[in-house]
Amino acid sequence: MAQCQLGQGTLDPYDEAHWLLVRGMGWSFDAGPEQLDRPLSPSEQQHLKKVMHQRLVDRQPTAYILGEAWLMGESFACDRRAIIPRSFIAEFLVAPSLPGLRHPVARILELCTGGGSLSVLAAKAWPAAKLTATDLDPDALALAQENIQRHGLTDRITIRQGDLFQALQPGDGPYDLILCNPPYVPTYKTNALPAEFRAEPHKAFEGGRDGMDLVRRILKEYPQHLIPGGLLVVEIGHEAAACQQLFEREFPNLKSRWLPTATGLQQVFALGDHL
Ligand code: GLN
Repeated sequence: MAQCQLGQGTLDPYDEAHWLLVRGMGWSFDAGPEQLDRPLSPSEQQHLKKVMHQRLVDRQPTAYILGEAWLMGESFACDRRAIIPRSFIAEFLVAPSLPGLRHPVARILELCTGGGSLSVLAAKAWPAAKLTATDLDPDALALAQENIQRHGLTDRITIRQGDLFQALQPGDGPYDLILCNPPYVPTYKTNALPAEFRAEPHKAFEGGRDGMDLVRRILKEYPQHLIPGGLLVVEIGHEAAACQQLFEREFPNLKSRWLPTATGLQQVFALGDHL
């Protein structure tokens, strides 16, 4: 894996190798020694060689090769229509344990849903909530719809196509919780993405000159869509410095709070009038 870039569902080369081999062979993650230790048939060897070649030489992401991705133990259909599921926000959608969330959650909005994974996790975390999942890209939303069906959530998650909050229709919202993992990579970095990341839709990364183009718009527009006491949660990944600057220069009155994740202290922020 030495030449390959991680970060599209795994952060550990052994995890990724295991995922590629086990699922590439169509086995379950629970496969035991009787399966893992037996010699491969010639056609199995051929297939495994092909899969390894796609990952190691063609530098395709594992999730696209396999057509599936995993986030917080849930599986998702995954292909080039959307960025591969991975968001620090997912960590808060399991227990669920969102610091700062004070009241029952009846309505949730996810902006930039891509393939829909965060909406699916949020729907499972708050089983009584209704959700709206939006994206600018109809192809990504078609994949999201597949994932919503795969998890039996069509009656609870409504998809809307459009540009951030403009996707919403009368009667949608207001929301108790708004989630967003927007494109936030500054242009100078998107121009230098590793091969695996160039296989993903460029617009899922492109955040403009300082990476904050979409975050800036979300900060301007969210108050009309969030109930008092509600929470907005946004991922900004490794762009904390740019985000901090945005808060200080353009939104000095907003009350924000970093929500530390397993891998960083300033990758996700929350905003709410009560923070
Ligand atoms: N670098 C981030 C990632 O690969 C970018 C994703 C994004 O812009 N939301 O996960």
